[in-house]
Amino acid sequence: MSNDPNLAELVVRVHEDIQPHFGQGRVADYIPALARVDPRQFGLAIVTCKGETASVGDCSVPFSIQSVSKVFTLTLALGRLGDTLWQRVGREPSGSPFNSIVQLEREQGIPRNPLINAGAIVVTDALLAGRGPQATIAEILDTLRTLAGDPRVTIDAEVARSEADTGYRNASLANFMRAFGNITNPVDCVLETYFNQCALRMNCVQLARAGLFLANDGIDPIAGQRVVEAQAVRRINAIMMTCGHYDASGDFAFRVGMPGKSGVGGGILAIAPRRAAVAVWSPGLNTAGNSLVGALALESLARRTGWSVF
Ligand code: GLN
Repeated sequence: MSNDPNLAELVVRVHEDIQPHFGQGRVADYIPALARVDPRQFGLAIVTCKGETASVGDCSVPFSIQSVSKVFTLTLALGRLGDTLWQRVGREPSGSPFNSIVQLEREQGIPRNPLINAGAIVVTDALLAGRGPQATIAEILDTLRTLAGDPRVTIDAEVARSEADTGYRNASLANFMRAFGNITNPVDCVLETYFNQCALRMNCVQLARAGLFLANDGIDPIAGQRVVEAQAVRRINAIMMTCGHYDASGDFAFRVGMPGKSGVGGGILAIAPRRAAVAVWSPGLNTAGNSLVGALALESLARRTGWSVF
């Protein structure tokens, strides 16, 4: 096992390892615009802290990053609010599905963590303070374009609309938390912003590049810019490890051993601290709503590189 693998060879080997599984899993169909995506696609990109990159498969095909966006809004909120954010959202695994409402009543409208839907909706509400959805969505999009070093990152208006049309559960979560006083803006403004952030459209190369500051103590090593404090990045990585795959976070830590965040579009961003950021995409999901082939690819990559943090 090498700690400094030949990246070009590595991505080819990982691609070979998982080929027999292509097409496995079920595409998310509760958001109609996502149900039409071909499940046989697979992309992988690695960007290292030294600025090397390697990619394979459908690494240039844009997809809906969905809940992977929660990592970036959390970063923005911690930068803006600091530790006061933790008065409104916890940092414990939920042990429940991503869109669950069950704990909220018992826990007075304080979501377990910022990476489940309820928690991310609170984070979005915090980002809205003092301004409207348009300005907030523009800041989120601008941040992702800057981090990715690519102005072609967009928001898929059709996906955002599709989710707004069918987002009854997210509307319930937001209204429920508003009743506890943990949502402070009008619920429709919060949801509009949340649906747009989830509809960010990026490819694996852009996503890995955008997440690189998480592997480098909060500094984007290519742009040479500090994105957020090192302490915030340690905490974001800890939350990704413990909560980034919902009720399957333990299994992901066991199999892959890297902080990771999944989305129902089939993307996963995984962090190898002080080494690299990795993005995989394959739309077929397992029963916990995480990319089935994507997790297999990261398992193969972790085995081949020794990039597990354990
Ligand atoms: N936009 C999706 C939702 O709110 C995000 C869920 C996910 O990616 N797990 O339902």
